[in-house]
Amino acid sequence: MTARGCFEVRMRTLLGTIRGTPERRQDVVDRIRRRVEDRGGDLAREIRDRDLYFRVSVVGTCNLSCAFCHNEGAPAAGKMSLATAELAIAAAVRAGFTRVQFTGGEPLLRPDIADFVRMARSYVTDVGVTTNGTYLPQRLNALTEAGLHRLHVSLQTEPLEDAGTGGHWGIPAWLMPTVERAAADTFRLRLNLPVPAGALATAERFLRLLTAQGVDVKVFSVLPEGDLRAEVYPLAALRAVVNRVNAAQRSSSGRVLMRGFRAPSGLRCTTCADIDRCREQSHSLRLGADLVLRPCLATRAWDSTLVIDDLDASIRQAALLALDYQW
Ligand code: SF4
Repeated sequence: MTARGCFEVRMRTLLGTIRGTPERRQDVVDRIRRRVEDRGGDLAREIRDRDLYFRVSVVGTCNLSCAFCHNEGAPAAGKMSLATAELAIAAAVRAGFTRVQFTGGEPLLRPDIADFVRMARSYVTDVGVTTNGTYLPQRLNALTEAGLHRLHVSLQTEPLEDAGTGGHWGIPAWLMPTVERAAADTFRLRLNLPVPAGALATAERFLRLLTAQGVDVKVFSVLPEGDLRAEVYPLAALRAVVNRVNAAQRSSSGRVLMRGFRAPSGLRCTTCADIDRCREQSHSLRLGADLVLRPCLATRAWDSTLVIDDLDASIRQAALLALDYQW
């Protein structure tokens, strides 16, 4: 059998481990792989060109229940071992990933989270953690000593209201030491900020306060409960807020990014049964604490189990699906 024939058989065996309809997925994976081959067959370059990164959930549970949380599309249970995370990260790096982000659930629930960061730093420089921040006072020292490169803190608006005065949002006391530390330390801090439709003016003032301290902020829209249509939210007005804040910044200031709706445009999207629920195309390949690889947020149709005995093929195939959003 030719090398290509062996590859085909291996891919089809792997697809047998995927839940759902393997034939449809096989067809889509084949189309994406042919597209990559037509462009030179360099998976690492395709990953790099899209800034695709590898997200690893180290624990499924969380101590909060934020309304906007998608929990990586994973069950709220389970725990990943350091050894398994290292096997997966090593394979992801061999496939071409250069950035690792640890998530949960809430990853700082794990007292050993710094061990994960230290391990990942032995493979790549760009290692981050996404957290709700409640355990930062206990964990930040260990994380920075382990070589943390970026820290993303997902906020809720209630603690900002509690920390502010006169109807304005303020920086909560538990977060302030991290903000000050980020200004002087080697890690980059980014806050993920939900902006309710009725709070644009409050958000703009708060964004000026944060960015003046060198903090990056990623804002995203939050619609009133029960109304999930993208067209109801004043996205253009939020975009205008972001542009105004960025235009007023000095070089040392943080930047504001906006997470908005992007129309699904991957090869797999034309066959996706959940396209109506798709509000954003993921820019990462996610590995859950349950060892399931998830290329999409809005559908579980393309998920696959991490095959420990065939890690490289397992990760490469899931990466093909995850990078299929920009051609
Ligand atoms: S969920 Fe995934 S496959 Fe479905 S439309 Fe969105 S990006 Fe495309």
